[in-house]
Amino acid sequence: MADFRVSDIDQQIIDKVIEVGNSTTAFTRHYEDNEHEFPPEQLEGEMGFDQVLPLFFKRKPDDTPMMTFQMLLSIARGSTNGVVRGLGLAMPTGRANGLGNAALASAGTKEQVSKWGNLFLAMSITEPGAGSDTKAIQTTARLEGEEWVIDGDKIFVTDGVRCDGAVVWATIDKSAGRAGIKSFLVEKGTPGFDLVRKEKKLGIRSSDTAAYSFRNCRIPRENLLGGDETVPVGGGSASYRGVMKTFNMTRPAVASGGVAKARGALDFATSALAAEGLEVDWTRSHAQRSATEQKLIEMEADTEAATLSVLHAAWLADVGLPNNMESSICKAKGGEVCRTIPQGAMELLGGMSISHDHLVEKYLRDGRISDIYEGTGQIQRLIIARGILGYSSEELT
Ligand SMILES: Cc1cc2nc3c(=O)[nH]c(=O)nc-3n(C[C@H](O)[C@H](O)[C@H](O)COP(=O)(O)OP(=O)(O)OC[C@H]3O[C@@H](n4cnc5c(N)ncnc54)[C@H](O)[C@@H]3O)c2cc1C
Repeated sequence: MADFRVSDIDQQIIDKVIEVGNSTTAFTRHYEDNEHEFPPEQLEGEMGFDQVLPLFFKRKPDDTPMMTFQMLLSIARGSTNGVVRGLGLAMPTGRANGLGNAALASAGTKEQVSKWGNLFLAMSITEPGAGSDTKAIQTTARLEGEEWVIDGDKIFVTDGVRCDGAVVWATIDKSAGRAGIKSFLVEKGTPGFDLVRKEKKLGIRSSDTAAYSFRNCRIPRENLLGGDETVPVGGGSASYRGVMKTFNMTRPAVASGGVAKARGALDFATSALAAEGLEVDWTRSHAQRSATEQKLIEMEADTEAATLSVLHAAWLADVGLPNNMESSICKAKGGEVCRTIPQGAMELLGGMSISHDHLVEKYLRDGRISDIYEGTGQIQRLIIARGILGYSSEELT
């Protein structure tokens, strides 16, 4: 039976994270307006990590299960001011919590995890011609002596500017489809690995997004994650499957970011309307409620449903049960409410909602990406359909 109760110390941490979040809105606004202006470390240093850290040391093993707790923290932090680096600010893992770190943890050997575990790693899969269809990647890796030589172009790398390196997808045999795809760890500073540009974006401007090029980029042979150089006949490689599995962990996290924006927009709308005397009167029947009350109730129900779907996917991971379909369900749901709830809040609030003085417009902009990266809403629905119908990715595309 799923259990989402939060221990006392974890509630204190969540409350502190909200307090820090609320006190740093002006800073994050400034950072967003001046995208890429500050050295990235300054963002974390300025934003109260030190206040939260001591509380973490009071946690005991039987407190709230880790992934469930991380999702609660992410929702709490993201709903205060929409800063995208919420989780990183609140977790004692510090900087080493990029998407590439999740891939390293799930697909790397013990030696690789201990060698690179402290680096801050981005995840670089997407290419100009390969987004949703990841098996279409064109970046190649060929073995020359004791080195892999990487060639290709990558786009949309989250944290690609501030990271220490990236887990990069490349094929070692184009004719083998997904079976030929492997992931490689490429450290910044390796000759032939270049940062091409930083993207300017609609939202999540506190998170940098980069494009990379790899030209005759040579890395040691042991930088192949998992170390398996074989190309299995007739199917995906263990390496490919291993990295795909990391999405079961990262999709709930992305969904929690979307839920956070919905929660932030809804809470703001609820209190702004209450200040004008417009509150849901729970004592009245459905037929007697105003359209505004009805809308607030529907938004609350949708946001709560999305929250519970995130916690469910996280809890399954915490107790070691498969969560492939549930992580897609919560990603689809989180990607939906991050669009519909800020939009609904804007409909209720009118003109004030687009003012820079409030965060609703930022929630709308920041939330939009939650339905795109880590697999779009359409792709999540495809995965859910496969799960329900029992089809493979070859049978239902
Ligand atoms: C800010 C940002 C950060 C990102 N961070 C990373 C990162 O760190 N690492 C990384 O590797 N990538 C990253 N991405 C890339 C992201 O994962 C892709 O943009 C996403 O997977 C969609 O790919 P695409 O943009 O090529 O769109 P496409 O795949 O071209 O899709 C276009 C549209 O078609 C729909 N569609 C595609 N295929 C199907 C189908 N089979 N059925 C139904 N509909 C379909 C999609 O849902 C979408 O609406 C990031 C993107 C952005 C914008």
